[in-house]
Amino acid sequence: MEHHEHHTHHQGDEHHMHNQQSNHVHSGHGTHHHDHHAMMIRDFKKRFYINTVLSIPVLAFSKMIQGFIGLSFSFPGMEIVAAALATFIFIYGGWPFLKGLKDELSESGPGMMTLIAIAISVAWAYSSAVILGLEGKVFYWELVTLIDIMLLGHWLEMRSIMGASKALQKLAELMPSEAHKVESNQVLDVKISELKKGDIILVKPGEKVPADGKITEGESDLNESALTGESKPVQKAKGNDVIGGAINGDGSIKVKVTSSGEDSYLNKVIKMVEEAQQTKSKTQNLANKAAGWLAYIAIGVGVLTFVVWAFFTNQGMDFALERMVTVMIITCPHALGLAVPLVVAISTALSARNGLLIRNRTAFENSRKISAIVFDKTGTLTEGNFGVNRIKVFNGQKEDEVLALAGAIEQNSEHPIARGIVKEVKRRNLDLPNSSDFSSTKGKGVSAKVSGSDYRIVSPGFLKDEGIDVPEEVNSDQVETVVFILKEGTLIGFIALADQIRKESKAAIAALKDKGVKVLMATGDNEQTAKAVADALNLDGYYSQVLPHEKSELIESLQNDGEFVAMTGDGVNDAPALAKANIGIAVGSGTDVAAETADIILTESSPSDIANLILFGRATYKKMVQNIVWATGYNVIAIPLAAGVLFYQGVMINPAVGAALMSLSTIICAANAQLLRLNFQKNKVR
Ligand code: ADP
Ligand code: MG
Repeated sequence: MEHHEHHTHHQGDEHHMHNQQSNHVHSGHGTHHHDHHAMMIRDFKKRFYINTVLSIPVLAFSKMIQGFIGLSFSFPGMEIVAAALATFIFIYGGWPFLKGLKDELSESGPGMMTLIAIAISVAWAYSSAVILGLEGKVFYWELVTLIDIMLLGHWLEMRSIMGASKALQKLAELMPSEAHKVESNQVLDVKISELKKGDIILVKPGEKVPADGKITEGESDLNESALTGESKPVQKAKGNDVIGGAINGDGSIKVKVTSSGEDSYLNKVIKMVEEAQQTKSKTQNLANKAAGWLAYIAIGVGVLTFVVWAFFTNQGMDFALERMVTVMIITCPHALGLAVPLVVAISTALSARNGLLIRNRTAFENSRKISAIVFDKTGTLTEGNFGVNRIKVFNGQKEDEVLALAGAIEQNSEHPIARGIVKEVKRRNLDLPNSSDFSSTKGKGVSAKVSGSDYRIVSPGFLKDEGIDVPEEVNSDQVETVVFILKEGTLIGFIALADQIRKESKAAIAALKDKGVKVLMATGDNEQTAKAVADALNLDGYYSQVLPHEKSELIESLQNDGEFVAMTGDGVNDAPALAKANIGIAVGSGTDVAAETADIILTESSPSDIANLILFGRATYKKMVQNIVWATGYNVIAIPLAAGVLFYQGVMINPAVGAALMSLSTIICAANAQLLRLNFQKNKVR
């Protein structure tokens, strides 16, 4: 099943990350991890600058470069100075690659590092032998430029990862920075930094626990997988400890703070997103695989070339050696070190700037395959900012009393409807009664005890299931979302709320349909409201009164029909479907559980960014593949020619031509990656 496949890939990627990046990313944690990363970036940068400066004389002293620019000068000992500088660069600048060679060989098999390390070692050793008297040519300028370009590539790649995690940090600060503090019967939203030991806080369903503490009321399943690695939610009740950063399940709990959490908690969030950023996509790994193959080819063809020329012709040892070195150096593609990092750097920066936070790069690149997208309504296509339109009460109840009662119950809920009701209670300055034993049923409603009676606030679907008639008064010509209030199973009133369609939704839907994507909506809301929104936005189809598990079943059935499905949602009720979809997209202003389940987060909460995502995923993937081809493709011609296959026909690549070819492919890759910006600016949906 797609679902399983999806997750296996994800894990696979993470695994790769530890292997392939182990040369510059340690598996440290928290801030230590962050600092270490920043230090590595500074290190690459320093090596790059120092080497580049020292490379200038090496280039200037090379007869070949002098020939290129039509200059000629020399002084006694010039070769020795060049050799000394090149040797320093080889050791100092080449160090990360030599170390990487060791790591790759002991961990994951040859890759980019191996190839670079072999090429620079062979070039250096051979050139040094020539300086010491062996007949042949030196390869110093090729050696130093190769090292410079590779350092630049690695520096850029690491910086792009860092840059993205800065954007993540911004989001992390934005998202769960508030806690609900309970004072007498009131719930106040306060900054996490203002929490003190001993404060009582309320944690609503689907929210992250903002600080470490002990449960004083309520019970719930808590998912601590991001913190402890335990993937099954743990059931907790009064007296149990909870860890800041754990995700609350369906219950609402009150927690007494034992250690105020800002530092530890935010760091945990940052660590989580940072690690997600460091997972490499399959395409990124493709570049490394290509490098691995080239390493084998470089060694194989190099040795073969040497053997053939040395033992089966009378060209002599030095000629044979020179051919071998040329082959090895030419096989090492300068451009491959830049081809993919440049695209990744540009695409992460651009997407972060355009409201897309990528948690899973494979999913991002796969976004080009999206053929159907299922939107949640509330909070995604609409603002999720409900206002109370009307309140109707039955059996002699008072409007304000019913509203206050609803508010007392709903202040435990994270749902946009609940927020709308609580807002109205505040506006009318009502006093809240005491409520207890709150529980929520995803997609159906909530229940609690108030002054000894059981109350429910539920959807029309719930009424139907219970065989309760929906009152006449519900019908109106307005598009409303209606919730019903039941006391001990009898209807005592209803509250009608209204939401607005996001202003970006229409253009976004049109752009998606334009790309041939089927646009559907699945909502837990009633038929009438669903239809009104679907009509207003001209959707391809919609499903109303959908329960959370039905959302994910819907995704599955679309997948069975061969669609590549993206799901967009914001709520607790959307999380299962976000996980099931090929690509889960969370709205940044939504709940923590949605964000944590998703592959991509829309930081601006704008549906038009999804159209951009597809466009952008497509362009990024195409550029990566193009660049890998540009970076390695020239080898098909260059390697045989460098080996001297056509020597007797008078055609042979000398190192100069090889170097020119390599530079050309590097320039093409760099320019090609830059085109991504233009492409994006031109086609962006606003
Ligand atoms: P959507 O798919 O539009 O985001 P949900 O699945 O979250 O909607 O909710 C479906 C329906 O369940 C709502 O329209 C409402 O009738 C009911 N419901 C959900 N949560 C609550 C709540 N906290 N209070 C009252 N009713 C709720
Ligand atoms: Mg929703």
